[in-house]
Amino acid sequence: MILNDLHIHSTHSLDGSNSIFEICEQAIALGMTHIAVTDHVEWLPDGAHQRPNFDRYFEEMRTCQRRYAARGLTLLTGLELGNPHEHRAEIDAILSNYAFDVVIGSIHWLNGRNIHYPHVFDGHDQYDLYALYFDAIAQVAASVDCGIVAHFDRIFWPGSTRFGPPELNRIEAAVRRAMHAVVEHGCVLELNTRFLTHTPNWNNSLLQVLRWYREEGGRFVAVNSDAHRVTEIGRNRHIGEELVIAAGCAPYAWDVCTEAVTISAMEEMVR
Ligand SMILES: [Zn+2]
Ligand SMILES: [Zn+2]
Repeated sequence: MILNDLHIHSTHSLDGSNSIFEICEQAIALGMTHIAVTDHVEWLPDGAHQRPNFDRYFEEMRTCQRRYAARGLTLLTGLELGNPHEHRAEIDAILSNYAFDVVIGSIHWLNGRNIHYPHVFDGHDQYDLYALYFDAIAQVAASVDCGIVAHFDRIFWPGSTRFGPPELNRIEAAVRRAMHAVVEHGCVLELNTRFLTHTPNWNNSLLQVLRWYREEGGRFVAVNSDAHRVTEIGRNRHIGEELVIAAGCAPYAWDVCTEAVTISAMEEMVR
């Protein structure tokens, strides 16, 4: 098991429940070696904008990095950009002012609607909407070069809830284009473990997408909890890792994948 969780929210996100200190304590209790605290940078359809106070965030992170390094935890800085393809200039400004270890790009909105709810499909054929979603994923990959592309799986939750599991062959071209874009831009795909045990079960859909990712040249998948409270850190991790391995990919590990000397060991895992 790879003891990384590179997508965790703290109280620097409006919807985060725990401090960075509490997150580190929990990660150590779980035996994790690498975690990233990736708070929301979000542009809402009504024009509102949410982001952490980065100066305070970095101050707290630096304190925790020093304190917890001695206990074997590597604490990585990060952020989760909502719909980054629609806010390139603002994001460039943030990333030129602050250096983050982990940059996550996520789709949270499609056609001005929250993608977590079945009404995102209102007025659309379900397969047209899925294809639009994966087109947006490809654009996210282009806008977070070498980052983590998250939430490919998220749309299957409201979709499966409303229509049942999708026939993926009907959107194969759009999904493959998105997976190809992830690889082409040097990004890592995320498998978000948040909904893996929810019903209706759509894990087979996720497995198919991961297989296409592999066929398009993808190797590593970041298995992340997207925890908004400490009890969620590392959740459903074993289910996520099994899906990744069943697809012929390997779970992404920060230390192995970012150190050239050991990357061949990682490649070996994938073969
Ligand atoms: Zn998200
Ligand atoms: Zn998140």
